[in-house]
Amino acid sequence: MEREKLEFDVLFVGAGPANLAGAIHLKKLAQQKGKEIEVCLIEKAESIGAHSLSGAVLDPKALKELMPDYLEKGCPIEATDLRDGFFYLTASGQFKLPYTPRYMHNAGCCIISLSKLCAWLGTVAEELGINVFPGFAGTEALYDESGKRVIGVRTGDKGLNKDGKQKSTFEPGVDLLANVTVFGEGPKGSLMREVAQKIGIFAGKMPPVFETAVKEVIEIPSESPFLKSPDTVLHTFGYPLGLNTKGGGFVYRMKENRVSLGLVVGMDYEDPMLEPYQEFLRFKKHPLIADIIRGGKVLQQGAKTLSAGGFYTMPQLAVDGALFVGDSASMQNVQRLKGIHTAMKSGMLAAEAILSAIEKNDFSMATLREYALKVDASWIKTELYEARNFGQALSQKGLSKFITVGAQYVSGGRGFVDPLKIVDDATTMKAGSLMAATNVQDLDGKLYLDKLTGVYWSGVKHEEDQPCHLVIPDPNLCVTRCWDTFRSPCARFCPGQVYEMVQEEGGRRRLKLTPSNCLHCKTCEIKDPFKNIIWTCPEGGGGPNYSIV
Ligand SMILES: Cc1cc2nc3c(=O)[nH]c(=O)nc-3n(C[C@H](O)[C@H](O)[C@H](O)COP(=O)(O)OP(=O)(O)OC[C@H]3O[C@@H](n4cnc5c(N)ncnc54)[C@H](O)[C@@H]3O)c2cc1C
Repeated sequence: MEREKLEFDVLFVGAGPANLAGAIHLKKLAQQKGKEIEVCLIEKAESIGAHSLSGAVLDPKALKELMPDYLEKGCPIEATDLRDGFFYLTASGQFKLPYTPRYMHNAGCCIISLSKLCAWLGTVAEELGINVFPGFAGTEALYDESGKRVIGVRTGDKGLNKDGKQKSTFEPGVDLLANVTVFGEGPKGSLMREVAQKIGIFAGKMPPVFETAVKEVIEIPSESPFLKSPDTVLHTFGYPLGLNTKGGGFVYRMKENRVSLGLVVGMDYEDPMLEPYQEFLRFKKHPLIADIIRGGKVLQQGAKTLSAGGFYTMPQLAVDGALFVGDSASMQNVQRLKGIHTAMKSGMLAAEAILSAIEKNDFSMATLREYALKVDASWIKTELYEARNFGQALSQKGLSKFITVGAQYVSGGRGFVDPLKIVDDATTMKAGSLMAATNVQDLDGKLYLDKLTGVYWSGVKHEEDQPCHLVIPDPNLCVTRCWDTFRSPCARFCPGQVYEMVQEEGGRRRLKLTPSNCLHCKTCEIKDPFKNIIWTCPEGGGGPNYSIV
C-alpha cells in the first residue's frame, strides 16, 4: 500500500510528561540558538492528556527547570502546602506512623491532575510551533535497510472493520520519518516491546516489573472533616492487601472539595483469585477512607500501570536513531511513588542530547549516547540509585520486608544484598486455592461503583467495528491450562471487564472479549501467566477520556 510519508527532524511518540517536556525543551533550546527544527509529537488519545492518569504528588523540580514561570503561565495546580500522614491499616482500624520516611516527605511538592497538566503542556507545545497530533497511535517502528537504525514510526490504519477489511472511512496510517525518534509510551510500551525484540535494549537487565492502580476523583461534601484535617496527603499500607502483596493506598486533597484516591497493587502478586478492582473497593470501605469520602460522588475513575522496576531494569537508553524516556525506560522512583519529575527530566536531557546531535548532524548511537551520560550525571540517577532495591524489598513477604527496607534506609539503598533479584510479574502466580473471594457488596452506583460503572466513568470509547487490538496467540490455552490452573485470572486482573470466561450450551467454555472497554493499562500483557495476551494499539483516538484524574 502507498503510504504518505512525512519528514521531521525529531519525532516524539506518546504525549506523557516525558515527551511533552522533551519536545518543549528541544524547541526552546533550538529557538535560543536560532535553529529552525521541525518537531512532531503524536499521542494515541483523542486529545492530549486524555490517557494521562496519575496520583499525583508532583515534585516540581523538573517543571521549574523547564519553565521557571510555570505558575504565571497558568500551570494547573490543585494544592500546595502538603502535609503527610502515613498509616498502617488493619481490617477495621489504623495506626498513624509517628515518623514519615525521608523519601516520603512531600514538603515543597504540589498536587496535580496529570491529565490537566498534560493538556496544558500540550497547549504550550503547540504555541511553540510543535506539530502536535493527538488521535494517532504509533503501531510499528520503522528501520533503515540495516534493520538496526530506527527511522520513524508508522501510525495505525483507521477505518478497518473487525475482519481487517477496509470500510468506506478507511484512512491508511502515515509513515512519520525523523532523524531521531523518542519513545515515551509510558509503562509497557507496545513499540518498546517491538524495538526490544529487534535491538535487544533490555538484554542483560533484570525484567521490567509493574504495579496496577485503580483511582478515582471524588467530590466530597463541603462540610467533610477531611477538608480541615491536618493531613492533606495520606499514604496507607496493610489492609486490604496485607503484608504479602506489594502495594498501598493514597488519598490526596485537591481543590473544589475533591479528593484523588487510589490503590496500587504490585503485579508480582501470587494469588490467582486476587482482583485489584475488588481490593480497591475494600480500600474505599475501610473506616479511615469511608469517613473521608462519606456523602461524596465519583466524578471520574480510571486505571493505569506504573513502571516499578527502577534502576536495575532500565534499558539501554539510546540506539541508532532513537531514545527512550520516562516510564518506558523504567524511570519511576518507586521509593518516592513519583515518576512525573523523572519522566520530565529525562525528556529534557534527551532534548539536549538531540540538539547536539543535530549540530553534529550525526544521529548514531555513539552521539545519542550523550543522553545516557546526562541521565547518569543527573539527579535522576541519584534518586533511582538510592531506590535501586526498594521495590524488591517490598516484594518480600511479611516482616522481612520491613527489615530489608530498614537496612536499605540506613545504607543508601544497598541493604543486605545488592542487587536484589527482580522476578518477572508473569511468573509469580501460584496455583493454589481457586475459591473466589466474595465481592464487595453494597455498591450504590454513586460513591461505590461496580467495574462496569467504573468503566463508564473513565469515559472510555472505541470504534466497535475494528480489528481486536488484544492478540491471543493460543485461545485454546485459555480454556484448558489457564482455566484449570488459575481459573482465568484475566477476568479478575483486568480493571475494565474486557475478559470474561463464559460457558456455552453443552458446557464448553469460551473467553469472551470486550475490547471496547479497554482502559489501555496493559495489565493483561504484564500479568498473564502464560504470556498469551499481546496488547497492541487500537485505532487512534479510542480509549479512556480522562480530564481530571
Ligand atoms: C495511579 C498512579 C499514581 C501515580 N502517582 C504519582 C505521583 O503521585 N507522583 C508522581 O510523580 N508520579 C506518579 N505516578 C507515576 C507517573 O504518573 C508516571 O511515572 C509518569 O506519568 C510517566 O510519564 P511518561 O511520560 O513516561 O508516561 P505516561 O504518563 O504513561 O505517558 C505516555 C503517553 O504515551 C501515549 N502512548 C503510549 N503508546 C503510544 C503509541 N504507541 N502511540 C502514541 N501514543 C502512545 C499514552 O497514551 C500516554 O499518553 C503515578 C502513576 C499512577 C498510574
